[in-house]
Amino acid sequence: MTAHRAIVVGLGGLGSAALHRIAAELGPGPGVLGIEQFALGHRRGASQDHSRIIRLAQHQAHYAALAAPAYAAWHEVEAESGQQLLTRTGGLVVEDRVARRGIDSGTRNIEGYCEVFDRFGVAYELLDADALVERWPQFRVDGGEQALYQAESGIVDAAKANAVHIALARAHGAEIMTDTPVRAVRPDGDGVAVVTDRGTLRADRVVVTADAWTNRVLGETGPTLPLTVLQEQVTYYSTPHLAEFAPSRFPVFMWHGRHNFYGFPVHGEVATKLGQHMGGHETTAEDRTFEPDPVRRARYADFVARHVPRFGGPELYTKTCLYTVPPDQDFIIDTLPEHPQVVVANGAGHAFKFAALIGQLLADLVVGRAPSHPIDAFSITRPALTDPAFPRSFHV
Ligand SMILES: Cc1cc2nc3c(=O)[nH]c(=O)nc-3n(C[C@H](O)[C@H](O)[C@H](O)COP(=O)(O)OP(=O)(O)OC[C@H]3O[C@@H](n4cnc5c(N)ncnc54)[C@H](O)[C@@H]3O)c2cc1C
Repeated sequence: MTAHRAIVVGLGGLGSAALHRIAAELGPGPGVLGIEQFALGHRRGASQDHSRIIRLAQHQAHYAALAAPAYAAWHEVEAESGQQLLTRTGGLVVEDRVARRGIDSGTRNIEGYCEVFDRFGVAYELLDADALVERWPQFRVDGGEQALYQAESGIVDAAKANAVHIALARAHGAEIMTDTPVRAVRPDGDGVAVVTDRGTLRADRVVVTADAWTNRVLGETGPTLPLTVLQEQVTYYSTPHLAEFAPSRFPVFMWHGRHNFYGFPVHGEVATKLGQHMGGHETTAEDRTFEPDPVRRARYADFVARHVPRFGGPELYTKTCLYTVPPDQDFIIDTLPEHPQVVVANGAGHAFKFAALIGQLLADLVVGRAPSHPIDAFSITRPALTDPAFPRSFHV
């Protein structure tokens, strides 16, 4: 049985970042292996698209504590690879107070963001509806909107970042096995057996970054995690008003109203992009389809027509994608309590901005070092993951 120092199961956004950092840590030379069930860059998971929002804007302290280090981690990857992965556009959080009347938004509101910004010393601007459209006439408002602007927000080029992480991992001596589903990970003494159709491998440490397939991979290690898989979708619009929506003139935005929309300037495609956070229907990695939901498609078009009319245009395409979310919508970054040689990560539908940093944190856990940043909130033994009665904090 071939022995490895570490095996990463699943090479999406989190796994490719982990493989890079672990290979850098344990390399150069052999001993670090990444296994992907499909081809690299496949579109069946959560990480394959031109863009993901990165932002310092967080309404929870345990993410705000990681936000600036996440930028630093991406800059390290850019420096090591010579590749630009981040595009700074500035970012808006717009809250439609009228539409949200009666909706319990918890801390996901202007006050929540400002409270955390003030606590972490992040600079921002507050704008009322008039100031918003004066600054960005691309928007149309009803008058009850409030917005905050943060200059560091922008775009991570997700697909490119995954490929860069894989290339850097290879540069540190990592091997990659594609089109090889891992059938099981079996703790074995102080190591782990990794069962594939191409044979059983052994590793001192295994990192499972399998997102929607996590419970399948961990099936033999303990209780099933209460993860909800959602089929999300984003639409690209071939706007004829390209210059107005260039990254230098139009920020990434999140619009908190009856639904939570997010949008991107022209990037990756000659098109703008719109999505709805947590708007998807429940599914599984096996049952998901690539068919856009017509109800959401129409909802997006209504939002565009009402609030950013020139952002729209003929639809280029609508792409589906998976969120895999614990009941409290928090990440999982931890080792298994019974089998500390198995490390698990889940991004809860909002982790790409942190992927480079999560890669580093997973490497910390693999080498048995104290995590370089606080991750207690992402423990695998927290009540949301262990108490069957723990309520989901979201509606499907
Ligand atoms: C529409 C959409 C928009 C998003 N927008 C943002 C955003 O703006 N900002 C942000 O920060 N985050 C965003 N996210 C969330 C972010 O993209 C995810 O949190 C992140 O990509 C998760 O990465 P992952 O590596 O865990 O998952 P995945 O990319 O799904 O990777 C898991 C990998 O494991 C492999 N795998 C599974 N089982 C096995 C097995 N048995 N053997 C071998 N390989 C296996 C899979 O094939 C897959 O490649 C968005 C997500 C979606 C879907």
